[in-house]
Amino acid sequence: MRTLVVEDTQTGLRNVCRMLERMGIVPIPAKNGSIGLKRYAEEKPDLILLDIILPDIDGFEVAQRIRAAEAREEWTPIIFLTGRTKDEDVERGIASGGDDYLTKPVSEVVLAAKIRAMQRIARMRSSLLVLARQLDDANQELQRLSAVDGLTGVANRRHFDISLAREWRRARRGRHCLSLLLCDVDHFKSFNDTYGHQAGDECLKAVARILQSHAKRPADLVARYGGEEFVVVLPETDGDGALRVAESMRAAVEDWGAAREDSASMRLTISIGVACIVPRPAEGAQVLLEAADKALYCAKRAGRNQVKAGACELNEAATKAT
Ligand code: GH3
Ligand code: MG
Ligand code: MG
Ligand code: MG
Repeated sequence: MRTLVVEDTQTGLRNVCRMLERMGIVPIPAKNGSIGLKRYAEEKPDLILLDIILPDIDGFEVAQRIRAAEAREEWTPIIFLTGRTKDEDVERGIASGGDDYLTKPVSEVVLAAKIRAMQRIARMRSSLLVLARQLDDANQELQRLSAVDGLTGVANRRHFDISLAREWRRARRGRHCLSLLLCDVDHFKSFNDTYGHQAGDECLKAVARILQSHAKRPADLVARYGGEEFVVVLPETDGDGALRVAESMRAAVEDWGAAREDSASMRLTISIGVACIVPRPAEGAQVLLEAADKALYCAKRAGRNQVKAGACELNEAATKAT
């Protein structure tokens, strides 16, 4: 416990330093307030014994400046040394940041006992700080987990709902176009029935990864909407831009599906419905989802493995194929 001793009388300073040395403690002597402050800054001691009446800056002021200089989680115990024992002095000492009092002449036994008490408090305090840090980390992890889909690692539905509402408000304020892609794996039920749910899950992870790698702007968000459906939010992106992103996602999944081991018997593909809206005051984000859902339905009816935007017109052949 490196201990700073600030005391202006030479004998007082020497006596206290000797007592500390006998306790196996390294003293850092200072004969006035400014030297005390300087040595505090240089040495960052573990304990400070601080005289109140000093020739330059008094002990109360020194204590206040030390407290002001401490970093957020830092705390150096301060014990005042004084001949004074008036109630007001005790009160002022504690108010200026001191932790305890020792009356002069200093008794070695009392000094040792007070140092032990301070050590105990310091130890408890540092274990509390460790716990607080662990709690903080755990909270951050919890917050991350509450936003992430457990299977695919992309954002979950909850996080998507919150983000979409926020982006909708932002787009309304800025009169920007907000785009949304609704992606659905084609014939996924048969895929599961053929290869099993575990293989199905692996495919969902791969699709999520592919979508994520094609949503490149910092504000873009890929989320699992439910089951084998994913949504992509593209803020400040117009219809053409959204179609281009969607097409690149669809093509990338098609390529990946074609390269799969079992691709000969079953090709994994996705269909995507695209919607792009500049929000109007009376509307909610639901209209965007509804529009994307309609477009997705069109993409399915038109034969799957394709991207559709807006209302669709199906020709007779396509209608028959669904
Ligand atoms: P469509 O092309 O019309 O979308 O056909 P589909 O079979 O994909 O459509 P449907 O919505 O009827 O079926 C979705 C299937 O997706 C149901 C289920 O077998 C599968 N599925 C949904 N969630 C999961 C999941 O978390 N893991 C796995 N392995 N399969 C899932
Ligand atoms: Mg003095
Ligand atoms: Mg579906
Ligand atoms: Mg499907």
